[in-house]
Amino acid sequence: MPELRFDGKVAIVTGAGHGLGRSHALLLAERGAKVVVNDIGGALDGSGASAGPAADVAELIVKNGGEAVASADSVTTPEGAEAIVRTAIDAFGRVDVLVNNAGILRDKSFGKMTVEDFDSVLAVHVRGSFLVSRAVFPHMKEQRYGRIVNTTSPAGLFGNFGQANYSTAKMGLVGLTKTLGIEGARAGIKANAIAPIAWTRMTEALLPAELEQRLGADKISPVVAFLAHESCETSGEVFSVGGGRVARVFVAEGPGWHTDDLTAEAVAENWQAILTEEPHLQPTTLGEQAAASMRAML
Ligand code: NAD
Repeated sequence: MPELRFDGKVAIVTGAGHGLGRSHALLLAERGAKVVVNDIGGALDGSGASAGPAADVAELIVKNGGEAVASADSVTTPEGAEAIVRTAIDAFGRVDVLVNNAGILRDKSFGKMTVEDFDSVLAVHVRGSFLVSRAVFPHMKEQRYGRIVNTTSPAGLFGNFGQANYSTAKMGLVGLTKTLGIEGARAGIKANAIAPIAWTRMTEALLPAELEQRLGADKISPVVAFLAHESCETSGEVFSVGGGRVARVFVAEGPGWHTDDLTAEAVAENWQAILTEEPHLQPTTLGEQAAASMRAML
């Protein structure tokens, strides 16, 4: 297998001043990509800002012989998102890869979660990924090529105590990924998402200390590199990644139960049939799912 290279390609990695984004940016640069290292440089809860983290990572890439520029713009505003993409165009003339990675946490049990906790988390993860994708989309469409890698989470896919805001945001990214995959198809734009588990400042208080090395960010970035590469033909999919394991996560629907005489009592009586998982369907569009309901009515 030849090395997967990114020579001549330009990548934007958001939230690349720390943790996973830093690791993705370093790997893409090592493989020949010119990288825009974006990071607002704030605290884990989104407070504060500093140009330092993005500048440090860009500097390290250049020191290692690569090409990179830093951006400290926030992904949460249309102006910030446009500025990130303009940085890439001004410095390198194009954008081939976008890794939407920036994220914050405001964990609280549901009864204590404020509207601000909810809105601020959705603003970075969902609105931020939408805004930067929206800003790169015309460039990718025009060159009929692009790779977008979003960052979801097992917390969104499967739920987690204290993370109503975060899990809502992360499941939102699954919807964005699937629809970007559909809408990007004709222009050669592939969109996929990773659901990582790794040792970073976001998880260091939660994960056992002895797993720091085995759950390193370096066990996540190779999957991002593959999904960002031109040889990746997959689109609209989600992969859980951690500690060297990579698995496809899919949204499936059971075979279902149908009646022409639906009542609440009939639902209760047939609940076990409704809960049945096999044989399951894996619709790849809304149309495929709707077809299953149509078929059951025939
Ligand atoms: P991290 O805190 O080290 O990195 C997140 C980065 O995003 C930070 O450097 C932060 O400054 C930056 N950022 C925050 N708001 C921003 C904004 N408005 N604009 C630009 N940059 C901004 O945490 P991490 O673990 O590396 O997280 C990276 C991504 O992976 C996040 O989306 C996170 O939700 C996701 N994730 C991580 C794990 C894990 O196990 N570490 C699990 C699931 C999902």
